[in-house]
Amino acid sequence: MENKVVEVEDLKVYYERGGGLLSKPMYIKAVDGVSFSISRGEVLGLVGESGSGKTSVGKAIAGIVRPTSGKISVLGRDIINLSRGEARRLRPKIQMIFQNPFSSLDPRMRVRDIIVEPLKIAGIKDIDFRVKAAELLEMVGLSEEHLDRFPHQFSGGQRQRIAIARALSTNPELIIADEPTSALDVSIQAQILNLLKELRDKLDLTMLFISHDIGVIRYIADRVAVMYAGKIVELGNKRDVIDEPLHPYTESLLEAVPVPHPSKRRKETIIPGEPPDPINPPSGCRFHPRCPHALDICRTVEPKLIYMDNSRMVACHLYQD
Ligand code: SF4
Repeated sequence: MENKVVEVEDLKVYYERGGGLLSKPMYIKAVDGVSFSISRGEVLGLVGESGSGKTSVGKAIAGIVRPTSGKISVLGRDIINLSRGEARRLRPKIQMIFQNPFSSLDPRMRVRDIIVEPLKIAGIKDIDFRVKAAELLEMVGLSEEHLDRFPHQFSGGQRQRIAIARALSTNPELIIADEPTSALDVSIQAQILNLLKELRDKLDLTMLFISHDIGVIRYIADRVAVMYAGKIVELGNKRDVIDEPLHPYTESLLEAVPVPHPSKRRKETIIPGEPPDPINPPSGCRFHPRCPHALDICRTVEPKLIYMDNSRMVACHLYQD
């Protein structure tokens, strides 16, 4: 299985809304046929606007939401249909870091208990939990003196460090970081990103890094998957996708990133038009109502995600016969 930690095949996550005696339920198609893999030690950046489905992909892999269909394998094991025993062994190997460290840490628990909680859930008994928690705190730039405090005694950045320590506690095969910096002050965001990058290099972490900010993805990812309206529209090495984007939506995301250097200042743009309705997405290419290059075929025929070379894929009629 050539070093693949995660393999996702044709994943769909639909959420049911409404429905009753006289009406059928509607389905929000948050993820609508997504496939990718992540190799050991690799960081895959998943980027797209709010509502593109990227968080639902992360939650499906983490087991927080049940996929509607598709396959998710971790280390070659189908993790959607695990027995209770297998789930107990394998689930702790997939850890998630959430966006908001103010809500992701239980305010009634002391830091020492928060950090080792995943180990206890995994049934680990024969270790000194206090020593383990202290080691993990040190790894994220805090210290033993913080062990007995409660989350409200920490700043946002420190809380996210605690959340990262908790995620590392089980020596995870995969970390899913869902917008881990976007709820923090700008001055703290770079510190947390640097910490994640250092830890990734030191521990050879495999990571799915989810962000709406392609600048953050540029900093931390090796490969990039661009999501729009529940689908991946471009996938490839960071240099290819970000330096030479092919898909018009990737181009739009990059144009919307402000350039801080005054001599290189580019007009900051917002992608024109509204993100599509996930209950009733546009026919054909879902980006066509907002795409400056749309062709007639784009309104009726959905473009397939096809290989442009052996590492890069794009779903756009501009590149298809
Ligand atoms: Fe634009 Fe058509 Fe490509 Fe969609 S398929 S991104 S509408 S050119």
